[in-house]
Amino acid sequence: MPVILTINAGSSSIKYQCFDMHTEECLAKGHVDRLLSTSAELFYTRRDGVTHRIPVPQTAHEAVFQRIFEILLHPEKGILRAPDEIQAIGHRVVHGGSHFAASTRITPEVEKTIEQCAPLAPLHNPFNLRGIRACQTILPDIPHVAVFDTAFHQTIPDYAHIYALPHTISEQYQIRQYGFHGISHQYVAMRAAEMFGSPLKTLKLITCHLGNGCSITAIADGKSIDTSMGFTPLQGLVMGTRSGDIDPAIILYLIREHQMTPDQIDQMLNHQSGLIGVSGISSDLRDLIAVHEENRRAALAIDIFCYRIRQYIGKYAAVLDGIDALVFTAGIGENAPLIRARICEKLGFLGVHLDQAKNEGNPMDEAIHHETAPVSVLVIPTNEELMIARDTLHVIKS
Ligand code: ADP
Repeated sequence: MPVILTINAGSSSIKYQCFDMHTEECLAKGHVDRLLSTSAELFYTRRDGVTHRIPVPQTAHEAVFQRIFEILLHPEKGILRAPDEIQAIGHRVVHGGSHFAASTRITPEVEKTIEQCAPLAPLHNPFNLRGIRACQTILPDIPHVAVFDTAFHQTIPDYAHIYALPHTISEQYQIRQYGFHGISHQYVAMRAAEMFGSPLKTLKLITCHLGNGCSITAIADGKSIDTSMGFTPLQGLVMGTRSGDIDPAIILYLIREHQMTPDQIDQMLNHQSGLIGVSGISSDLRDLIAVHEENRRAALAIDIFCYRIRQYIGKYAAVLDGIDALVFTAGIGENAPLIRARICEKLGFLGVHLDQAKNEGNPMDEAIHHETAPVSVLVIPTNEELMIARDTLHVIKS
């Protein structure tokens, strides 16, 4: 049985899944939250539904990975008889800069390049690398593959990814649009093509990943040709706690006229803006939906959130010269019919017409457009782990 293990190692959490790649079935998965705290625990679930909560050492990531492998190989709790049943490990890496346009086998040079990209993603790449190194120490003889969140967007043409800043500054400091959530956008695009029964290359798609972080991507010829996140994941749509697009002069104004420091502005834009900033209530859309009929600021936050998405859909429909399908995914995209309806309500001019009953009927991997509508609207649960596993298998086979 060829097994691929996927690892998503962050600063405060580690998530993993084991796939049987014959069937693409998830054999076991687990996550450790609040790493390094006294309450850190491993939540482990096996395919048969058996779950365990296992205390993990409050030490470094390395000891946590040791525990993860012990459980996978455990005679009763585990799913593997020997470590060599794992064919390869696919590691999610947030930032590949301009260096990686595809997933790649990890060599010492690749590790060095990921390290060089760390200033572009200081909260992610160093922890992704720690995960890679810990797993390499435990399983040095199998291939390790890096799957980048930025790689899918490397096909965005220069006129779309270059900011209109002095060119020397852009080049010297590697400032350009990179885009993120690429693994998710690529997965749902491939799934949409399966649902259409047409090759992805023939479709023009707009994919909306709406979770705590939100981004939207224009896809043509199977490639990302524009996306809403930019140099960092702060640009673009309104998110749970992030502002998305603002006039950059606001930052200068706050520094010069109101003596705010860079750290305060960073905190404000990344953690105190977006849905929570506007509503003053919550970054969780469910909380805002629950009170929006009586609470004006909750309603305003939802209005701004949906309006920005509609603006981007209009922009990307122009970029693509028309669309075949609009795809919704991630926590909000998959679960919030009110939001999907609000986004689509004035897109009739594009050929988008929702079927209200389908939209409200808990669709999963389903179309929710009216049967006569020229543009399909699909709700597709994202599966970034499966995408990482598929890419990992593809890399080791080629
Ligand atoms: P992450 O980006 O952290 O992976 P998710 O994809 O899980 O996040 O999405 C989290 C968001 O999804 C939250 O804003 C949450 O409110 C929203 N969400 C989840 N379920 C629902 C629901 N039933 N209705 C509305 N929003 C939902």
